[in-house]
Amino acid sequence: MTSSLTQDRLDLSRRLFLRGTGGGLLLGSTLGFARPTFAQSGEAGAAAEPPPTGPAGRPLPQMEKEMPVEPERRLGWAIVGLGKFALNQILPAFAESRSSRLVALVSGNRQKAEQVGARYGVEARGIYGYDTFDRMGDNPAIDVVYIVLPNALHAEYTVRAFKAGKHVFCEKPMAVTVEECETMIRAGRDAGRKLMVAYRAQFEPHNVEAIRIARDGEIGRIRLVTSDHGRILDPRDPADQWRMMKSLAGGGSLYDIGIYSLQAARYLTGEEPVEVFGQIASPADDPRFREVEDRVAFQLRFPSGAVANLSSSYSTASVKRIQAFGEKGSLVLDPATEYEGNRLTLQTEKGRQEVKVKETSQFAAEMDHFSRSIMSNTEPKTPGEEGLRDIRLLQAVYRSAREGRPVSTEATGSLR
Ligand code: NAD
Repeated sequence: MTSSLTQDRLDLSRRLFLRGTGGGLLLGSTLGFARPTFAQSGEAGAAAEPPPTGPAGRPLPQMEKEMPVEPERRLGWAIVGLGKFALNQILPAFAESRSSRLVALVSGNRQKAEQVGARYGVEARGIYGYDTFDRMGDNPAIDVVYIVLPNALHAEYTVRAFKAGKHVFCEKPMAVTVEECETMIRAGRDAGRKLMVAYRAQFEPHNVEAIRIARDGEIGRIRLVTSDHGRILDPRDPADQWRMMKSLAGGGSLYDIGIYSLQAARYLTGEEPVEVFGQIASPADDPRFREVEDRVAFQLRFPSGAVANLSSSYSTASVKRIQAFGEKGSLVLDPATEYEGNRLTLQTEKGRQEVKVKETSQFAAEMDHFSRSIMSNTEPKTPGEEGLRDIRLLQAVYRSAREGRPVSTEATGSLR
């Protein structure tokens, strides 16, 4: 299926190319048409034939975008966990997807799953509970299982999905411990299936452009990255209640949102840190922080000499900011990691300018990227190894804070 799909795409592109450029132009000149007006219309074939005078079908126009995969050939996705994030962000994003379609839901609440399923056109046979999860193996319509459960459940359900023969897309943080991450990666390899961690920021258009600017040297050698992610943890919100429990969340603000700051430092420098230093502050009298940490300030040192000053917080007003400072300029993403409405500003010797980037769904983009990686049997951009690297580094931050000294991360094997 994979190779024929790829071949079909190549054939289609070739046909479109021939119609859109060379074929049409060649035909036009052979027949001796001199129709500058039609040629300027921008439509393929316009130069070859006069436009019809009545209603008529004209050839496929010159394509500016790849067409979506045919609906029946898009990969089928099952969403596991119908919580706040799945309902508000993931499910609506399927409408913008071009290679993925929603075919199954897994929830402990059948009534909710049926209600949601009816809105998204999920058939009754695509509704599963945690007790019937493993039966997804009998449903060939499901290609990918997307785990959107509390962090401590990621590993178990990933391994079970692999055992059911499915590919796995897993929310961040990948898991709670390094050992869990390693088990997930191994299970994927054993099953011959792919694993990707849902690092949406790497698919968010403003961050993608910032990475391009950094890589192309437009702000020179990057010397410093700063990034802050904070919000108020709300004990009345069910989605925040498990985040207060170490057994389900694995950690506090660092695991939940500090991971965005860490990712930013890694994807903007393109380097792996050799040393981390962390400090944790949690008010002893605040019941939200009995089990997990509130604020973390942490620093990274990279092989090139670049450094990062990063933070996460569960007790400050919302902040989602990333900044990179280079020898020739700087860039600021503020906000950097909102679901939409992010902004990128670039400062160089030419002055300061907001970089206008076309807003597209980062959720559809990351899901489609994974579907395409499966169809073309290529490595996804953020595989399990990427998630594992972050968990190792976050663990090193905790260790540094505990021991009150910098921790070398070369020894953790976190280098690419
Ligand atoms: P949530 O509490 O709203 O959803 C969790 C879902 O898991 C709920 O439907 C809940 O019923 C279900 N669940 C199953 N077993 C559970 C148990 N034992 N305890 C609690 N809930 C259980 O949480 P959320 O905010 O949607 O987060 C889910 C996952 O998505 C987390 O891993 C989180 O880090 C991730 N997330 C990612 C982003 C992002 O931007 N990438 C944003 C929010 C959340």
